[in-house]
Amino acid sequence: MNNPFPVTELRCSLCGKSFAPEPFRYTCDTCGNDGILEVLYDYERQAAQLQPALLKDCKLPGLSRWAPILPIHSASNLPPLRVGQTPFYAAQRLGQKLGLSQLYLKDDGQNPTGSLKDRASAVCVASALEMKMEPITAASTGNAASSLAGMCASVGLKNIIFVPEKAPKAKIAQLLMFGATVLAVRGVYDDAFELSLKATQEFGWYNRNTGFNPYLLEGKKTAALEIWADCGYQAPDYVLVSVGDGCIIGGLGKGFLDLQRMGLIERLPRLIGVQASGSSVLAKAFANGDKVVPQAEAPTYADSISVGYPRAASLALRGVHQSQGRFVVVEDSEIQKAQALLASSSGVFAEPAGATPLAGLVKMCQAGEIPPQARVVLLVTGNGLKDVEGAMKALDHGPISIDKDPQTLRSTLESLLKL
Ligand SMILES: [Zn+2]
Repeated sequence: MNNPFPVTELRCSLCGKSFAPEPFRYTCDTCGNDGILEVLYDYERQAAQLQPALLKDCKLPGLSRWAPILPIHSASNLPPLRVGQTPFYAAQRLGQKLGLSQLYLKDDGQNPTGSLKDRASAVCVASALEMKMEPITAASTGNAASSLAGMCASVGLKNIIFVPEKAPKAKIAQLLMFGATVLAVRGVYDDAFELSLKATQEFGWYNRNTGFNPYLLEGKKTAALEIWADCGYQAPDYVLVSVGDGCIIGGLGKGFLDLQRMGLIERLPRLIGVQASGSSVLAKAFANGDKVVPQAEAPTYADSISVGYPRAASLALRGVHQSQGRFVVVEDSEIQKAQALLASSSGVFAEPAGATPLAGLVKMCQAGEIPPQARVVLLVTGNGLKDVEGAMKALDHGPISIDKDPQTLRSTLESLLKL
């Protein structure tokens, strides 16, 4: 599918200043790195290509079907891996436990590298190919880095990842396996982040950092577009998602807003951002007139949402306000319980941050805040196999150890049946 470039302008989310969509344009000249730019389209024109009647017959794989509302010239520049089009399950057993008749799971842990971040990395790689910018750089030890490295490997693009020196070995192994150049910075994550920004300016590399490159949010918004399609081209009543730096919930908000701008939905689903109590800067800001107070440390079991300085705060808060949503704060112990409940009640094994929205939903249901007939979607953002050791810590039991003779098996089973 070839389009004329569909982006009409990049508009600062803080001061409203407008910029042309050109290479090396990341943030607002006036507002600096906090001035994240919003990507805008000719919505009336693009809506004609995204009507439900057309999409129902669309055979294009993954993100390609959303190309008319993505910042790319051609869907053929998207990586060949199947990104998006992730499963959407009716979670009946889990719904029964919570007293909900219409509970759904969007399982983004089924993306190629196991997380929703693949949506953003795929759009980033397509943009880099179209603007002929190489290498791509990012600072991360988590899902964003492995996602970028995997997408780059699929098209042969060079990528340079800055990690803090003490990054977990398992995560570095995944990056090296994908062929990334990994620079271990003698410092903490923020040092790695700052160095990657300097390299972007000095060497002209393409930057994939979340909350900096405006096109990443456009990749993340495709989760909202798919939820709309999965719900029969309607908006659900609630979408719950975990929140760290705010980019994913900001992307969801942008996706539903774009659908409304195109006249494809009448109302926005309520966005519920769920944060861990140790890492709840945005929830506190929401309760305090949107005043964002960064914190030096943000400890939580859900490592993917441990963020003390949320880089996409303005977009996240806007998305929640516009949709008449709210934030919910949960304890690590509640996240651990939700991780096990999700897996045992639905068969979906999520990483801690992927199960965090369920922890929030449990809390809201207990407080009677969700009507039983409401159509509720939980967005599972990452696969549980990414951190098996963490998952074992979340369980209150291990396997049952037995001797290898059949008699022991028999007596063990008998004692188990008595329980
Ligand atoms: Zn600005």
